[in-house]
Amino acid sequence: QGEASEVAVATPLGTVTIGLHHPIAIVAGPCSVENEEMIVETAMRVKAAGAHFLRGGAYKPRTSPYAFQGHGESALGLLAAAREASGLGIITEVMDAADLSAIVEVADVIQVGARNMQNFSLLKKVGAQDKPVLLKRGISATIEEWLMAAEYIMASGNPNVILCERGIRGYDRQYTRNTLDLSAVPVLRTLTHLPIMVDPSHGTGWAQFVPSMAFASIASGTDSLMIEVHPNPKKALSDGPQSLTPDQFDKLMEELAVIGKVM
Ligand code: PEP
Ligand code: MN
Repeated sequence: QGEASEVAVATPLGTVTIGLHHPIAIVAGPCSVENEEMIVETAMRVKAAGAHFLRGGAYKPRTSPYAFQGHGESALGLLAAAREASGLGIITEVMDAADLSAIVEVADVIQVGARNMQNFSLLKKVGAQDKPVLLKRGISATIEEWLMAAEYIMASGNPNVILCERGIRGYDRQYTRNTLDLSAVPVLRTLTHLPIMVDPSHGTGWAQFVPSMAFASIASGTDSLMIEVHPNPKKALSDGPQSLTPDQFDKLMEELAVIGKVM
């Protein structure tokens, strides 16, 4: 509570600060890191469009155990290559505390995914390391549960937590994957000093709805956006339907620039 705080993230290109009095921080990239060419190409394209961070999963929390699970540790090396090539900060998810030491070697921000929001032992471990933590809202989590999950991280010694609204489970999955709870943004402002991110990609599940909900996220007062971008969404190994192409991302960034909070 109290003054809105910010999280300063050291990246190869300098410090990017996520918070109320800063330009909207843009996180973009594929759901999964698939191979070196695609992750480096995506990094260069989203950087050219104005993104500050590259996202991409090495360890993927998939509903089905038979779905692509991510390339794991080898994908961390590919993220390191993309970081080196682009200078972008890297955001990637930790699912298992056993992988944390390898992940902190390449990631500038550690993502805890929706499905692990109340994995309290994992929260304590990310709280005991120094990299900022992006805490996604659980699929059916109340705001109170989400804030308490953030408290676990902070109580373990890490004050640098960013809260990411990514849609909650609604009753209609026919037209949207989740229900993006944009009211969470102004509500959080009254409850916490922590910086806020919105992810309209997972929030809607469909690329065609991402731009309008990105605008709506900014209108709701978010400090940052996470947008899935894939060089060939039709061929993506995960979350293709909700991924923008690099050209679509360019267009979105040009349109967002018009409202002035995006650089
Ligand atoms: C992701 O960011 O690719 C992801 C799996 O997100 P979430 O945890 O919000 O489903
Ligand atoms: Mn995804």
